[in-house]
Amino acid sequence: MAKVNVFSIECKSLMTKSGIESIDYAVNPYFGCQHGCVYCYATFMARFRKAPGEWGSFVGVKENAPEVIAKEVGRRRPGVVTFGTVCDAYQPVEKRTRISRACLEAFVGAEGFDVGVLTKSDLVVRDVDVLERLESPDVGFSITCLDAGLAKLVEPGASTPSARLAAMRELAERGIAVWGFFGPILPTLTDSEDAIEEVLREMDRAGASRVLVDRMNLYPKPWSRFRSALERAFPERVEDARAIKADPGAYEEELRERVGVAVARVGVEAEICF
Ligand code: SF4
Repeated sequence: MAKVNVFSIECKSLMTKSGIESIDYAVNPYFGCQHGCVYCYATFMARFRKAPGEWGSFVGVKENAPEVIAKEVGRRRPGVVTFGTVCDAYQPVEKRTRISRACLEAFVGAEGFDVGVLTKSDLVVRDVDVLERLESPDVGFSITCLDAGLAKLVEPGASTPSARLAAMRELAERGIAVWGFFGPILPTLTDSEDAIEEVLREMDRAGASRVLVDRMNLYPKPWSRFRSALERAFPERVEDARAIKADPGAYEEELRERVGVAVARVGVEAEICF
């Protein structure tokens, strides 16, 4: 993995009101994400603070996050809290800083907060002892493909898919509620009925109580990064991907049908988010 520029920053608040309907508060202990997924929508965050490089090449560590969140938990109305909406709270730097762990600990003993983590890292298993002390914790694992080589191309800094599935299994065995986020389905790469079925089946086997399935949003920035990855590794798919970008509505309709078939074959509880 390329060298990542890690630096310290301060935050005034950590429990941010979320624009996502099912989440009251988003908690992002880092600015930036060294997982560097080519389809990442969170790259827009680079507009709010001066980003010192390409998305994936830097991480701002919110060093005072544990103190800030400890105060906020006492002041805020209880609700649903999700760690990792515009960064991954368990990206590699967390192994050393333990900032996300300290932020999770702030919710131990706090009543009425449903605390969840959404991650592409098996590092979250390290904090099972904290999760076990929360009121109703859950951990979602985001998986877009099963192939380690493909994952390296599209999510270069994240844990391998098999490591994520193993982590999911381990947490489920420890009694933590786990779920899967199959998103985004990668256009031309993991969007066949069989590929969708394989991912859903592995999540089901790993103990996911439910799976959310989403398509890739072809905003200009993620599209251009995704297209570059295709050009490098799968040049023969670029034309098909361009056709999808030209008529996303028709593609989504077809994709919904494929997902529906795969969901029925696996028999997993699933929600299609598009
Ligand atoms: S893990 Fe999430 S936030 Fe991090 S780069 Fe990937 S999509 Fe973006």
